[in-house]
Amino acid sequence: MDIKSEIEKRKTFAIISHPDAGKTTLTEKLLLFGGAIREAGTVKGKKTGKFATSDWMKVEQERGISVTSSVMQFDFDGYKINILDTPGHEDFSEDTYRTLMAVDSAVMVIDAAKGIEPQTLKLFKVCKMRGIPIFTFINKLDRVGKEPFELLEEIESTLEIETYPMTWPIGMGPSFFGIINRRNKTINPYKEDAELQLNEDLELEERHPIEQDASYQESLEEFMLVEEAGDEFDREKISRGDLTPVFFGSALSTFGIEEFLDTYVDFAPSPSGRETEEGEIVEPTDEDFSGFIFKIQANMDPKHRDRLAFLRIVSGKFSRGMDGVLARTGKKSKISRATMFMADDKETVDEAYAGDIIGLYDTGNYQIGDTIFNGKKRDFVDLPQFTPELFMKVSAKNVMKQKHFYKGIEQLVQEGAIQYYKSMHTNQPILGAVGQLQFEVFEHRMKNEYNTDVVMEPIGKKIARWVENEADIKDSMNSPRANLVYDRFDNQVFLFENEFAMRWFGEKYPEIKLYSLL
Ligand code: GDP
Repeated sequence: MDIKSEIEKRKTFAIISHPDAGKTTLTEKLLLFGGAIREAGTVKGKKTGKFATSDWMKVEQERGISVTSSVMQFDFDGYKINILDTPGHEDFSEDTYRTLMAVDSAVMVIDAAKGIEPQTLKLFKVCKMRGIPIFTFINKLDRVGKEPFELLEEIESTLEIETYPMTWPIGMGPSFFGIINRRNKTINPYKEDAELQLNEDLELEERHPIEQDASYQESLEEFMLVEEAGDEFDREKISRGDLTPVFFGSALSTFGIEEFLDTYVDFAPSPSGRETEEGEIVEPTDEDFSGFIFKIQANMDPKHRDRLAFLRIVSGKFSRGMDGVLARTGKKSKISRATMFMADDKETVDEAYAGDIIGLYDTGNYQIGDTIFNGKKRDFVDLPQFTPELFMKVSAKNVMKQKHFYKGIEQLVQEGAIQYYKSMHTNQPILGAVGQLQFEVFEHRMKNEYNTDVVMEPIGKKIARWVENEADIKDSMNSPRANLVYDRFDNQVFLFENEFAMRWFGEKYPEIKLYSLL
């Protein structure tokens, strides 16, 4: 098959949510779905719109899927879909944000009882900034949650995005009857096998006792309202990330997943190109292989210094054993160990195409943001820096180890593991991070790779703001509640104690123009 049709088959997305919304469960079910169709070698499930629960259990048992890797690929309906996990909780780090730079769309999982939660909002903002399509899966309809209209309202007002429900729930919790598929006006019942068809007036074509149910009639009226008064379906808006298709379901019960996948593959974009430092756009169908590294997973086992560098293929085709040039150094080397995670197992990759993510074994050669190419020289634009929220003072435990200490910091900062700042007058090194994990990784790697014990002292959560007009900054503006520091490029940055301190500063010094990074 030619490169172009291989690339058109690819869809690469990140799954974003707040912890516990059901991201892992949904991922597992998506993988099972892909696997089930492939393994069964039939599209029977697709036609009837439903797999029997027993089929699922069988597949689940046979395959014993567990979602442990951060990138996985599965097949669905002739497409090759790459899912990228965005670690949360204690694993939240800049890598989580950077993962969003390597995808062409995002799937946002929301717990129906909780609505939009803080981490969803943070990740959403980065997706929105990139203007990529966002698909919303409202999960846990098998439990009582917020009303569907309330959830849509919350998404629209909190995230400033229009919504277009692709499915509509009938009841929820104990009275959850099923979902209406807006595209073909069928009802997929939660507890029964056979689909129900609605006619143009939204009446059931065949009689069913549910019609007597008052809550059924209510849901149908809501659905009618959505059809008449809801946002217009607009493909353009979806592709810009201004309108999100919304799905209701229950990941745990594998319900609503197929409706989601069917629509996802129809509307999610195929791999897009990427801009180089020279301002040129490299198209995915460009024959020469190129890609960039967006994440490096350090091995926490001190006996192994191996790391895994995740590369998003931007153009062309990867073949095992091919030469890759590292744009930063110009050094050429054979890429003989690359890995990719298929739904069931880790596999050595022989071939991969633009849109795919491959893991490269690395002994310390790669940095985050690095470009690797074969053929025509490429150097992609840098990945953005993100505004850190957590800060720590750091110093070497043993003053005799200063040299190692600074070398370690320099390399880890360059690599993108952590951000470096220093205080105004004392040059005290300060580390910045978006997640606590980054400090732990830093401490661990300083000890193991640079043989340096560090002492860290938290300065806590701060709001970091850069300044457009640095010339107007005066020493007197520096205070404990608006602490002035330098970043690693010697830009001046205010670390505000809290929102209140920042507002107060803004009122006192209206001439200072503050801005945040992403
Ligand atoms: P993650 O932290 O977002 O990856 O969430 P998990 O997938 O680990 O799910 C968190 C909890 O919610 C687990 O106990 C799941 O079994 C449960 N859960 C996930 N999906 C559903 C659902 O559709 N319904 C119900 N009732 N529970 C769910």
